[in-house]
Amino acid sequence: MEKKKNIAILGSTGSIGTQALEVIRANADSFCVEVLTGNGNADLLIQQAIEFNPNTVVIADESKYQYVKAALAAYDIKVFAGNKAIAEVVQMDSIETVIAAIVGYAGLESTISAIKAGKQIALANKETLVVAGDLVTSLAKEKGVNLYPVDSEHSAIFQCLAGEFHNPIEKIYLTASGGPFRGKETAFLSTVKKEQALKHPNWEMGAKITIDSASLMNKGLEVIEAKWLFGLKPEQIDVIVHPQSIIHSLVQFTDGSMKAQMGLPDMKLPIQYAIGYPNRIKSDFPRFNFMNYPQLTFEKADTKTFRNLALAFEAMNKGGNAPCILNAANEIAVEAFLKDKIGFLQMSDLVEKCLQTIFFIEKPNYSDYVATDKETREAASRILKN
Ligand code: NAD
Ligand code: MG
Repeated sequence: MEKKKNIAILGSTGSIGTQALEVIRANADSFCVEVLTGNGNADLLIQQAIEFNPNTVVIADESKYQYVKAALAAYDIKVFAGNKAIAEVVQMDSIETVIAAIVGYAGLESTISAIKAGKQIALANKETLVVAGDLVTSLAKEKGVNLYPVDSEHSAIFQCLAGEFHNPIEKIYLTASGGPFRGKETAFLSTVKKEQALKHPNWEMGAKITIDSASLMNKGLEVIEAKWLFGLKPEQIDVIVHPQSIIHSLVQFTDGSMKAQMGLPDMKLPIQYAIGYPNRIKSDFPRFNFMNYPQLTFEKADTKTFRNLALAFEAMNKGGNAPCILNAANEIAVEAFLKDKIGFLQMSDLVEKCLQTIFFIEKPNYSDYVATDKETREAASRILKN
């Protein structure tokens, strides 16, 4: 029997994290959990630790350290707290693959730290590549680390590229469901509340990415993610709305041939492919039935109404720290929308304002990104107060 692969799951209490644990639970002879980390939900982290018996758990929220420590006192599990601790434990010798499933900019430091230690990365945290794609991909190359995409669209592209060796990509199409407000107009969007935006037609996800999906910022972040993962020029990336979410994305090659990857929408599939690569692990996930989907349809994305997608393309074209500004402003905007402090359309206003006003840096280094993120958050919060 092959040796089990040792996995660290950063953000194990989230939507991706819990689905990663489902995959591992179903394949306990192939994978072993070394590290689990969470932030808000200490009880779930404790429960996961008791079930999977990892070497170490880290609770990012330091105020919950004593609580987690006490609950796990009877077990042979090390407990730490804080984001610095997450960045340290990912470097443990015993870890082979890190599932980066923290949401937002908060996942950047630990992902970079894992790459520095030569760990293979199953990357769900797209914001890492949006913020610092140049640094992260060049560091991965230098360390011989593969970034296996967990995002379903990028997993689709990655699967389409299997066996193509050095055949160049002409372009890629990222499919988008269009979210719950597909086809709606600005007047309607100006009235929507978080309860409506949190209802995604095809996927169950964490709150932040669900709002991003409704505003099409998620697709914008994915365009930038794709640029870095697959080494593409901005003009090689296109978005096509496909409401059924069956075709997960497509690659067009230089002979005009197109390859698509399809299946029912289920994040366990891309998670499993990322940690099991190059093997396809047998699963009992529900299978696609053509008769349930007599029509697969496609539409142009409405970037006039959903300005976030246009803003993301703009930030990608500009380069430098512009995508980092876009991301930080969007994190503040989504948080404010989820607290009913701003309306749906004001999220784009805030992102646009920050892109216009925050100091542009053409070739940022790591500390420039950290400073840009901080400065943008402060500026965005100031704008919201006025
Ligand atoms: P989620 O909100 O459900 O989970 C986030 C996880 O990160 C939780 O474990 C939480 O405790 C942890 N976390 C949050 N803030 C933290 C902080 N400041 N420090 C440390 N840990 C923190 O989010 P999710 O939906 O699982 O998404 C995770 C990532 O995966 C995001 O980048 C998202 O864009 C990406 N992604 C998610 C899906 C999906 O279906 N959910 C699909 C594609 C990509
Ligand atoms: Mg996606």
